[in-house]
Order: sequence, then C-alpha cells, then structure tokens
Amino acid sequence: MATTPYTKGLHEVGDGVFAYLQPDGSWGWSNAGLVVDGEASLLVDTLFDLKLTGEMLDTMRAAVPAARDIGTVVNTHANGDHCWGNQLVRDAEIVGSTACAAEMAELPPALLAALVASPPEGPQGELVRTMFGAFDFDDIEVVVPTTTFDGELTLRVGDTDVHLVEVGPAHTRGDVIVHVPGQDVVYTGDILFNGGHPIVWAGPVANWVAACDRILGLGAATVVPGHGPVCGPAEVEAQRDYFAWLVDEVRPRVQAGMDPVAAARDIDLGARSALGEQERFVANVAAVYRDLGAPAPVDAATILLQMAEYGAG
Ligand SMILES: [Zn+2]
Repeated sequence: MATTPYTKGLHEVGDGVFAYLQPDGSWGWSNAGLVVDGEASLLVDTLFDLKLTGEMLDTMRAAVPAARDIGTVVNTHANGDHCWGNQLVRDAEIVGSTACAAEMAELPPALLAALVASPPEGPQGELVRTMFGAFDFDDIEVVVPTTTFDGELTLRVGDTDVHLVEVGPAHTRGDVIVHVPGQDVVYTGDILFNGGHPIVWAGPVANWVAACDRILGLGAATVVPGHGPVCGPAEVEAQRDYFAWLVDEVRPRVQAGMDPVAAARDIDLGARSALGEQERFVANVAAVYRDLGAPAPVDAATILLQMAEYGAG
C-alpha cells in the first residue's frame, strides 16, 4: 500500500475512495472522505466553516465528476469541525446516529462566534484563540441528519457497500465509523487522532477502547483518522494503548485523593509528550475520574479552564 502524503487536499486511498486532509490536524483541522461509484457519491463529514467546506467541495467536484451531485453525507459525530458545513450539501440525504443528531442541535455556532469575538482574559482566552481563531463561524446554520439510526446501517453507493457502525458514546455521544469493506478502508472520525492527544468529551473511556477494538476487528489496511495523516491499524492500536495506560495511571491517583488537575500534572507522559494538543490530557484524566465515580467537572467551561491552566503550566 502506497503511503498517502500528509498534504492539504484530496487523496485517493482506494478505488473511488478518497481522503480530504487538512494539516496540521490540530484543533478544528479535521479530515473528511469521499466514496464514489459510477454516478453515485457519499461524503464523510463536512468541515468547521463554510469557506473550508466550500473549498473542499470545489476540489472534489473538479477531481471527481460524481462529486458534483453528492447524494449522501455521513456525519461521524456532532463536533462542529465535522458537520458545520452541512448546509452546503443540504440537498443530500444526511445520515448520522440518533445520539449525534441530538447532540448536534445543542451547540449554536453563534455561541462560538461570540466567544472568539470576545475571548476571556488570560490563558483561557489564549486557548480559545488556539482552538477556534482560524475559523469563521458567521452564517453557519446547523443542519442535522435527515436519516438517523442506532447500531449499524449499510448504505449503497452505486454497487459499493458502505457500512456504518455506531461506537459511541466515546469521543462524543454518538460516534460513528464508516467502513468500506470492498476497498479495505475505514474512516474513524475522531475515534482516532493521529499525532495528537485524543479528547474525551463524552466517554466512558472503556467505550473508546472497545471502539478501537471494533476498528481493528474490521481488518482494514487503510485508516483515515478524524485528524492527522492517513495510517493503518498500528495507530489504532496506539490509541487503544493510550487509554489503557491512562486508566492505569489515573486509578491510583483517584485512590490517593488527588484532584484531576493535580493528577494530570503528576503523570509522566513519557513518549506521549511528543503528541500535539497536550492541554487535552487534563480533560482525559477528568474523564477517567468521572468513569470511576470520582468528582470531576462535566461542564465545558470548567474543562476549558482546566485545559488552559494545565497547558499554560
Ligand atoms: Zn474533530
């Protein structure tokens, strides 16, 4: 299998199966996918804003005739960097898990636009700029999936089977992976961050480990992560191992009565300090606290503050 270069734009990773990549894969710089067969096409995820999504659709239409009229869109989950361009493909059938559709309707883009326009003082404001400053949240209308499912769903794109598997709640409440068995390709959404720390918004962490096992069980040679370079099963194993290690590190610190921020500071990241977006680590520690029934923040504002403090310290 040829290695896919990590450059911005559309890359064919199988026969009629593409990845659209946005380096450097940090906050908001997500990947998307395209599956075509004959006249039919399916888009995996839209991007964080209308400009980026429009640019992606132009690139796809120029390279692949079937992408001029996208029939189906699958949203892997409810985070804006995977669905806030939906209004540009609103004539398509938009598919997501029931939990994803519900979560998507909860966060108005105008709230993020207002946060970016007047960020809080100090490290929290710095983090807001790092996370969202490169994007334009004006005029975004949330368009939720028109077709929802629970569990599994098989779609047809021409003669190609595309198999959707709900693996959430893990990263978010309704995570879905997209498998193209005929081409040995799987799109993981944000179940895999390749090159950065993952971030647990929902959990439980055990579900994320199980999701990695589910992906590995598909035996797909080519893995398109939600962020970062196209890879193979080894990176999925590494993601699973990250969480297994995390739980082992956090458990004794919960028992010792540390709070999540102190525990995060106390844990030696070792080789994992090379991963990007290290501020996410404290959110992941807090997620394990919640899983173990220990006190930890659940609201996004407190998690953001702790990430900012941990990242700055
Ligand atoms: Zn993402």
